[in-house]
Amino acid sequence: MRIASVGLHHGEEPILVQSSGSGTIFFTGCSLHCPACQNQDISQARSPHGVVVTVEQLAAIALDLERQGAININVVTPTHFAPSIAAAITLAKEHGLSIPLVYNTSGYESVESLALVDPLVDLYLLDIKTVDSEVARLWCGSREYPEVIMRVVRWLAERRLVTEIDENGALTGTLVRHLIFPGTFSATMQFLHWYANTFASHSWLSLLTHFWDPTDGRRSFVLSASQYAQLIALLKELGITRGYLSDPYGASRWIGDLV
Ligand code: SF4
Repeated sequence: MRIASVGLHHGEEPILVQSSGSGTIFFTGCSLHCPACQNQDISQARSPHGVVVTVEQLAAIALDLERQGAININVVTPTHFAPSIAAAITLAKEHGLSIPLVYNTSGYESVESLALVDPLVDLYLLDIKTVDSEVARLWCGSREYPEVIMRVVRWLAERRLVTEIDENGALTGTLVRHLIFPGTFSATMQFLHWYANTFASHSWLSLLTHFWDPTDGRRSFVLSASQYAQLIALLKELGITRGYLSDPYGASRWIGDLV
């Protein structure tokens, strides 16, 4: 495996970070090649960034993150290394790893790959980019993305029936993330209808409303005031209350308080 960076990360949703941070391991490479990827320097297949690690070294890294106070192990863009990650986490658990595993994925993967790691995963942090094939072509570089993600969601819906906070204060189940791309508001409304009908009863939702522009490195709020109000009204209409919505200032707000 090649890993690009390791550390305690405080930029995830509040429940994943709490006071001491998420033990985040970013892998080099990705199964998708989104043109506006924020991590282009590490996500592209031929990226020279990072170091090669063995299963034993990754297990040691996970244990070290727990010693530093991480509340979970958060593997980011793990898909292409799934078999080795499963082996490393299994080994780390044999040596005392006790914090939950967060599988932080775009969902552009096979269910066979997920089945390898599923017994070890406490929370799927599932980035659902769109269910519209034209938006997927433009923003993910793959028209097939909706087909792939829907297969993954069907598979998860059969296995992860409940998302809840466990007795240790950790979120277990699935947290679906959806970043609104500029100019794709109607596709987000379509996504929310689909989500409400298929997966909302099984998961929490995190709606991200700030977009990082790779051409100038600026981050900006992608919605007008009226679109933001429509978004909140639709969440209410669809009965989606569990999860987070980033407000115009970038703060993560609990959706239930807004609707
Ligand atoms: S799925 Fe995420 S990490 Fe991979 S290319 Fe797209 S934005 Fe980048």
